[in-house]
Amino acid sequence: MTTTALVVQYLDDLLDVASVPDYPNALNGLQLANDGSVNRIAAAVDFSSRTVALAAQAGASLLIVHHGMFWGGLQPIRGTYFERLRTLISRNVAVYSSHLPLDRHALYGNNALLAAELGLEPAAEFARFKTISIGVSGESDIATTELAERADVFARKHGGGIRTTPLGAERRTRAWAICTGAGASTETLNEARERGIDTLIVGEGPHHTAVDADEIGIAIIYAGHYATETLGVRALAAHVSDRFGVPWTFLEAPTGL
Ligand SMILES: [Zn+2]
Repeated sequence: MTTTALVVQYLDDLLDVASVPDYPNALNGLQLANDGSVNRIAAAVDFSSRTVALAAQAGASLLIVHHGMFWGGLQPIRGTYFERLRTLISRNVAVYSSHLPLDRHALYGNNALLAAELGLEPAAEFARFKTISIGVSGESDIATTELAERADVFARKHGGGIRTTPLGAERRTRAWAICTGAGASTETLNEARERGIDTLIVGEGPHHTAVDADEIGIAIIYAGHYATETLGVRALAAHVSDRFGVPWTFLEAPTGL
């Protein structure tokens, strides 16, 4: 057993929460306190009724999530919002959320870990956001269809599957970039074009990104928002578990996206 305060301080430092900018609703850090002790950790991609119920069932006293309690913006605390809070407080479950600080972390980040999962070695950053970059990029010499196949094998493990822009059998990926989650956008495509990236691997993106990418000769592999963001919370929870000697569990709750 350890204390919530020690774990939170450790995570805030490790993830550099104080200096990483983010969207206001991310509210990185401890979002809900408990009685101050942690004896089991649960990790999930999303804060939801499903993951709250699973965390309570698992007997967790700390739930670590990537998309936190306030992701959907201001909500009155009634209906499912009330029920989730009631479960957490009555079962003494604290909630810690880490969005961009976790996406971009070199060891436990979604982007670095997705690269490793696909057999790619990051050499530079990608996906600028304010003062930071969220993603990773690098060089390779691999058939794009082979890369897509690796991404598909990974996505299927998490209840998903890939979609891609049209890929010729002869096409090769020599300069790639990764931005997990909602990583395909006009901004990331522009950055990819400026940087000579030929293949962009993301979680998801709006339809126009597929049209725009094809126009400029960039391939996009959409590997699923949920699947591409399972890696960070898992690695982080496993690390904290090791460090503080408390058991951990991953709560699989695929969204279909
Ligand atoms: Zn996300």
